[in-house]
Amino acid sequence: MAAGIPAVEARLRAEICEIGRALWQRGMVAANDGNVSALLPDGTVLCTPTLVSKGFMTPEMLPVVALDGTVLRGERPPSSEVLMHLRVYREDAAVGAVVHAHPMYATAFAIKGEPLVGLMMPESVVAMPEVPLAAYATPSTHEVPDSVAPFVGTHTACLLEHHGALSWGPDLMTAYLTMERLEYTAQMTALVRQIGGERILSAERIAEVRRIFGIPAPPTR
Ligand SMILES: [Zn+2]
Repeated sequence: MAAGIPAVEARLRAEICEIGRALWQRGMVAANDGNVSALLPDGTVLCTPTLVSKGFMTPEMLPVVALDGTVLRGERPPSSEVLMHLRVYREDAAVGAVVHAHPMYATAFAIKGEPLVGLMMPESVVAMPEVPLAAYATPSTHEVPDSVAPFVGTHTACLLEHHGALSWGPDLMTAYLTMERLEYTAQMTALVRQIGGERILSAERIAEVRRIFGIPAPPTR
């Protein structure tokens, strides 16, 4: 790493590369798809560059942008999809990292236009009871941030209709693990449908899990 890079930024650069490799190795991004970002201590955002496989990034490749999208530093331009990342940070000051990927099963549900329901297993009831669907928007336009914004603050991830998935959290590992759980939920839903076995936990068991783990019931709509 070049001299003069603060230790926190150097660590985040390395961590984004590591998470990019994990996304690629797990088949959650194809070719140059997907992007990852992290909030720096000064309120600017470190993000992945355009036209690079997430499996083969090096720390010095990552540009830095301001929350308004202005490119501040970097030898490569940021991903055109960074606008949706920036909107998530602007919507919720508690967010420290955002991950966007095109996982195979989650994207199949996004193309179908069906949100995910995570009420088939206790772990999902606790961590991810639902993954809403953000309405289709043309990539790189301001439509995309607008479609995602309603779910920030109330959820930790959403599907992007006809596109893929987006997750966010206080740090990179949390946002990445949320993407893993989202894809697992999509994969399991598809699998149990194939064997005709889809069923959610009973209302009583869901309420019990929420009570024991201190999870508030979602607002009724
Ligand atoms: Zn995408």
